[in-house]
Amino acid sequence: MHPLLADDLSRLPELLQSARDFAAREVSGLDARPVVAPGGAPAARPLPDRGAGAEGALARFAERWAPGFSASAGPRYLGFVTGGATPAAVTGDWLTSAYDQNAAGGDASSAAALERETLGWLRELFGLGDAHSGAFVTGATVSNTVGLALAREWLGERRGVRVSEAGVAALGPVEVLSGSPHSSIPKALSVLGIGRDRLRTVPVLPGREAVDVARLAEALEALDGRPAVVVANAGTVNTVDFDDLRAIADLKERYGFWLHVDAAFGGFAALSPAYAHLTDGIDAADSVCVDLHKWLNVPYDAAVQFTRHQDLQVRVFHNASPYLGLPAGEPDFVHLTPENSRRLRALPAWFSLAAYGREGHREIVERNVALARRLGEGIAGVPELRLLAPVRLNVVCFTLAGSPTRERVHALGRAVADSGEAFLTPTSYAGVHALRAAFSNWRTTGSDTDRVLAAVARAAASPPRARGRGARWS
Ligand SMILES: *Cc1c(COP(=O)(O)O)cnc(C)c1O
Repeated sequence: MHPLLADDLSRLPELLQSARDFAAREVSGLDARPVVAPGGAPAARPLPDRGAGAEGALARFAERWAPGFSASAGPRYLGFVTGGATPAAVTGDWLTSAYDQNAAGGDASSAAALERETLGWLRELFGLGDAHSGAFVTGATVSNTVGLALAREWLGERRGVRVSEAGVAALGPVEVLSGSPHSSIPKALSVLGIGRDRLRTVPVLPGREAVDVARLAEALEALDGRPAVVVANAGTVNTVDFDDLRAIADLKERYGFWLHVDAAFGGFAALSPAYAHLTDGIDAADSVCVDLHKWLNVPYDAAVQFTRHQDLQVRVFHNASPYLGLPAGEPDFVHLTPENSRRLRALPAWFSLAAYGREGHREIVERNVALARRLGEGIAGVPELRLLAPVRLNVVCFTLAGSPTRERVHALGRAVADSGEAFLTPTSYAGVHALRAAFSNWRTTGSDTDRVLAAVARAAASPPRARGRGARWS
């Protein structure tokens, strides 16, 4: 064994303790550090011939890289839909690495069974019935891609083609209909060989991002019996609007289509009796995407993919090999997802659900929604700002008063980031350049929200200035 490895092996408990101490300092200081670190990234250095050992690597990381990391796990990082990591989720994530299980199945470990238990808990949390089976994937984009891969196989079945064998060219053109699809949907269509151009956007209701179900029915009628894919959206990123899933599901009686629901973060509405009606009808979906590294507050690399059609999933993803064979009975995860070897990414979710239960996670969702409303009310009271949509759930979409240019809105976002107080991301909603503040972090409090409002109001009241130090904001 290389002497550096032998040395690290002999001091493994101390090394883990150093890492723990370092992480504890970083995480407990999240509130105090600038939300976006000033300054750029250090220049890349050459590969070392001789290593520094784990302790040396930690010291180098702490010096060169840690200062530039954002406080994205902290309470005032409201860009995208980010979420943090609960204490129990971090514990589970550390243990995932420490145990280093391959949750593909068939590995003489109970890891896959733990993933199944976690999937059962999540299914219940999101109001899905027994007909839905699930699998962990890396994020909602992959979950959407897997769901649409099953849709593609199903369409093939309708047309007498086994797409998984014959290829997508044998399928012919596919119709994909959606009101306000997330950008990951065209990406998935590109990956799957269906093509981005096959996505047809259906008109939304006036002043909304939810699909106009009557117009969707017309679009389906116009297909003249040709089967299609409908992507329903449960929680749009700008205004957290929800398609009427029940009404869309009812259309299945008249038209043949695969219903995929992108409930990446909106699915969490089901955790609260106050908002659960927004996801009514989700159980009728053929495939469902829910992200976990957003509103469940587990570290990155976790989403789930649910489907009522595990048979099609095995057809698409089975990995037949001399030592794995073809699945019989409950299929191993290797036969259900794009990966073969897989991280046990269920463990952080298992820990967080075991630690805080349904009630604890419901509290996070309800608090985040209450804080989004609080920020929304605050913004409505600032003369220089304008709320662009009612705060439906956990996202506040707003802009500058008047008809602001893209440059002015981006400068506002940059000024907020440069203040170190908060981080918001730009968007465009109903043709207006805007900013979004998305609440999904378990740590965010009322006083954090007031600090965000104060930072935004200050930046809006001062004239736009030249691009500042926090030049990594874009
Ligand atoms: C975030 C998001 C996605 C993509 O999720 P990733 O985890 O970034 O892959 C897809 N759909 C919706 C609605 C989202 O909010």
